Amino acid sequence: MSTPLSITDLHTEFNNGSKKPSELIEEILSNIEQSNPEINAYTEVFADEARVQAQELDHKQKAGQELRLLEGVPMSIKDAILIDGKKTTASSLMLEPYTAVYDATVIKKLREAGVIFVGKTNLDEFAMGSSTENSAFGPTKNPVDPARVPGGSSGGSAASVAGSMALASLGSDTGGSIRQPAALTGVVGLKPTYGRVSRFGLIAMASSLDQIGPFTNTSLDAAYLLQAIEGHDELYATSATLTPEQLLDIPKIKEAKVSQMTIGLPKEYFIDGIDPEIRTSIDQVIATYTSLGVTFKEITLPYSQYAIPTYYILMPAEVSSNLARFDGIRYGLSKAEEAENLLDVYKKSRMEGFGDESTRRILLGTYVLSSGYYDAYYSKAKQIQALIRRDFEQAFSEVDAILTPTTPHTAFKLGEKTNDPISMYLEDIFTVATNIAGIPGISIPAPTKGLPIGFQLMTKHFDENSLLTLGNAYEQTVKI
Ligand code: GLN
Repeated sequence: MSTPLSITDLHTEFNNGSKKPSELIEEILSNIEQSNPEINAYTEVFADEARVQAQELDHKQKAGQELRLLEGVPMSIKDAILIDGKKTTASSLMLEPYTAVYDATVIKKLREAGVIFVGKTNLDEFAMGSSTENSAFGPTKNPVDPARVPGGSSGGSAASVAGSMALASLGSDTGGSIRQPAALTGVVGLKPTYGRVSRFGLIAMASSLDQIGPFTNTSLDAAYLLQAIEGHDELYATSATLTPEQLLDIPKIKEAKVSQMTIGLPKEYFIDGIDPEIRTSIDQVIATYTSLGVTFKEITLPYSQYAIPTYYILMPAEVSSNLARFDGIRYGLSKAEEAENLLDVYKKSRMEGFGDESTRRILLGTYVLSSGYYDAYYSKAKQIQALIRRDFEQAFSEVDAILTPTTPHTAFKLGEKTNDPISMYLEDIFTVATNIAGIPGISIPAPTKGLPIGFQLMTKHFDENSLLTLGNAYEQTVKI
């Protein structure tokens, strides 16, 4: 299989004529045909459309016209992001009959950039989970070892890139759903700063925490894709207007100058509970950065120990509110014909449409928002959120970035945690704090002798330039 590893390599091959866009698409489609029946990364493949688009690019190439950087890049899209005219299910029976009637802003932008959408990828229902086992359409398996999970909730996206069934993908991350599956499958996953990318056309899980971001094989590819999708969107009030310094600066990222940078190691994240294999790997990453002249410093994030409990109050509260719109009337599944009255329509449609994890979180969220408990849980969690943010602000007054493992251990076996929601929730121990604080985070493959391991870098709000500079510098050194 000779699918080029990076967007830059692919671009070079397209423009020097050594590869045709349709050749690449055929390779990708044949990989999908071979691997997808077992891996179940894709829930739908757009083979015919991808072929037509690739052939148009073949003509352009033949006519001697230069292809733009993202033209012909085969991408998969998490099935929580709307593509006009395509089914968008969020891997839920509730939306199984639903077809999108417009493009998400990220899709519109990538379409204009010439990306080829190869298909939609599997996820935990409504993006709730850490293993992609909560999908109504069966679990996705890890291409590195199909007895193991690929992580979640964007497990299909991660598996499509790790299994060479796409060159890149878009996922969404509410508490770790891009970074954790990236780590467990051995690819790069980037969660941008909250507000950097428009969420218009993303099926909302927890609106104050959700962000769309890319899965790629390199940090530089993540930078190219982020540059294509970032920025203010008049259709989405929470999308930010970026200042010139905040806009991605690819030439600067490419220079990879890191010798003046300081990285913080939060002592709370490096205590007991880290698997020795992961610790050894992270130590090697630290050694690589040290050889590049980066200074390391121990820092403290005292409130990080409350990140998981805070997340599991704020997130379900928003989930219960966002999922209220799926009522058997407005979208997707409806049991109206079997119902006796309006209440019965709601009950029957929601009982049948939602899986166990969605139901659990709707109940939890309704509880924490109910009168009498609102102050004890929801208001308290909002206060802790402010303290977690303050921890990071304090840390970033001393360091340029923070480094941690992405996950507490490597990919676990399918079925290992399905009956233990709490142990599944603890999967996100290193990733949720960034969503709570709104800062960006990236997971990059770290050295391993066995299953994939990821290290996570975080920077202050809107400083993806430093984040990706550090990522690219590391990859240049270890030659990914
Ligand atoms: N695994 C986390 C959860 O189950 C995060 C999900 C996400 O980021 N979408 O909520």
